[in-house]
Amino acid sequence: MRIALAGNPNSGKTTLFNSITGKQEHVGNWAGVTVDKKQGNIRRIYNPSGERITVIDLPGAYSASPYTSEETITKDFILNEKPDVIINIVDSSNLSRSLFFTTQLLEMKIPVVIALNKADILEKKGNEIDLRELSHMLNCPVIKTSAVKSSSNGLKELIDAAHKAAANGAEDKVAQKTDRDEAISDEDRFQHVKQIVAKVEKRKKTSDRQTIQDKADRIVASRWLGIPIFAGVIFLVFSLSQAWLGPWLADMLVGLIDSLYVLAERLMAGNVSPVLQSILLDGIIGGVGAVVGFLPLIMVLFFFLALLEDCGYMARVAMLMDRYFKKVGLSGKSIIPMVVGTGCAVPGIMATRTIKSIRQRRTTAMLAPFMPCGAKLPIIALFAGVFFGENGWIGTIMYFLGIAIIVVGAVIIRKITGDNSTSYFIIELPEYRWPSIKRAFLSMLSRAKAFIVKAGTVILVCNVIVQMLQTFTLDLQIAQNTSDSILAIISSPAAVLLVPLGFGMWQFAAAAITGLIAKENVVGTLAVVFSISNFINTDDLALVGDAAAVQSVLGIGSVAALSYLVFNLFTPPCVAAIAAMRTELESNKWFMGAIAFQLAMGYVLSFFVYQLGTLFTTGTFGDGFIWGLAAVSVIFGYIAFLMFKRKRQDAYLPRKAEV
Ligand code: GDP
Repeated sequence: MRIALAGNPNSGKTTLFNSITGKQEHVGNWAGVTVDKKQGNIRRIYNPSGERITVIDLPGAYSASPYTSEETITKDFILNEKPDVIINIVDSSNLSRSLFFTTQLLEMKIPVVIALNKADILEKKGNEIDLRELSHMLNCPVIKTSAVKSSSNGLKELIDAAHKAAANGAEDKVAQKTDRDEAISDEDRFQHVKQIVAKVEKRKKTSDRQTIQDKADRIVASRWLGIPIFAGVIFLVFSLSQAWLGPWLADMLVGLIDSLYVLAERLMAGNVSPVLQSILLDGIIGGVGAVVGFLPLIMVLFFFLALLEDCGYMARVAMLMDRYFKKVGLSGKSIIPMVVGTGCAVPGIMATRTIKSIRQRRTTAMLAPFMPCGAKLPIIALFAGVFFGENGWIGTIMYFLGIAIIVVGAVIIRKITGDNSTSYFIIELPEYRWPSIKRAFLSMLSRAKAFIVKAGTVILVCNVIVQMLQTFTLDLQIAQNTSDSILAIISSPAAVLLVPLGFGMWQFAAAAITGLIAKENVVGTLAVVFSISNFINTDDLALVGDAAAVQSVLGIGSVAALSYLVFNLFTPPCVAAIAAMRTELESNKWFMGAIAFQLAMGYVLSFFVYQLGTLFTTGTFGDGFIWGLAAVSVIFGYIAFLMFKRKRQDAYLPRKAEV
């Protein structure tokens, strides 16, 4: 038996899906987080008979008319795959908006059961809904549920009702068909819904709580205070993650990794060949350990970001940014991919599917990877720790630099494509509430799991390869000097290009290249090529106590370090994100353009950071200034040419109708 979950965005589909299947899919406290369908088997406690029941969580939709791609996915699934029953999740605190979609689902000739979800909120507000009347008017079962609660949540009754409805499917289908075969206009549908709501819902007058929420919104999302408050919040989160709580936890983990290193070294001494030893010790334990050492910092960050999302704050931030994003031709909806992209760029890029205009969708998919994802955090933490004293500023600056680049990038792309369409986006503001520690904890654990899996697979393999390439020369002899190694020979040509950016050494080039596979590799490769077993706290090289020692091993100054950080954060993301971009952009031209744009962005920014930074600190420009300036001028010249070309083309074309 197959049950499809369908309903408006943010009605609680994913929460309900997780509860009845025991899965841990990401739950977001705003619209547009689930963009693809997910599938799972129902838990035994809800299904004592043991029959195989599959549940499919469909993306949120306000209507069955395919206005957005999530709506298309939802509608196509129901029409083509014909599930046995649809559970329509209705946000009971938002009845009138939800029922529009319900009435459409009822016409699809598949049995429907309504889960009147968020019943706890309804109760708290003191509103009432007459279930029997609603069920009678819609001619389908209606069950009250509270998907967030672990007991007396109505889920068992819901599944039973779904089971029954599926069994009686054939009869119900006829009953539901009624006389509505001809198309009904949206207007009529609204009227119909309005009548139903008037009859079944009894609302208490707006309480004082509402006014407190409104007051909070006036401050948090205000034109002048909104951004400073947001900056303060992000600074606090980065400080907790990278300066206060994170490093303290990381020290403990790093102590364990160190002991493992020492133990392995002792066990292998004398028994294992030096080459194998260096692969195991420096490549695997050292390289992977260097990356894993940052795990606690990442976990702390995601824990607090999850709390911010859960309490309703991130939805306010979306509203706040909407104002600026619309001005540069991005959709207000572009914010969701960017906030999601702060965790990982891949779901961020996928979340662009919610954007209707194809140009805005592509622009967002191209720009979303500029947000610092989880894999970039170790790089930020490493450079912030070694060169800038442990603090949350570097992370905060990189976060806002990411947003600034997105805005600038959007302006450039708009000028190049010549598309000035704007879109309107109505964001739903969920009510403020106390965030759930449990949900934040689970969200953090799922990120941590992904990180560890990646460290144990992709990062491990890359480190072993890097270690081997660094051990051997081209004629497969052991390199006496690592600068004769295969790795040095491969990376040197790239290093030449990086001279104007302040880090023209093969080691840095190699790390930037492996970073294209996965960003964590930047730290892993640096650890391998500089033989630093971990960056956080070792006996001889302690990030906390002895940053100067790491600085001298890396052999660059703080300006070049900042430039390297910027370069890694703002050049193309990892292969997984690049592949996601390829899929979402749906065009080779856009894809090639996106990669070129991201490379150019990283190069230009890094050039300015290094050269201007050197000018301010020493009074002269840094190495390779002339060559770098020539390269940057070519980039600027080409962008100007593309914009100019578009302008001329437009002058000869009739005005395009606004989309
Ligand atoms: P989806 O977009 O429909 O998948 O909705 P989610 O499952 O992501 O839920 C949206 C928000 O509503 C989340 O913050 C959930 O914690 C919250 N939520 C879901 N179900 C309930 C419920 O029954 N009661 C309350 N109070 N909150 C709920």
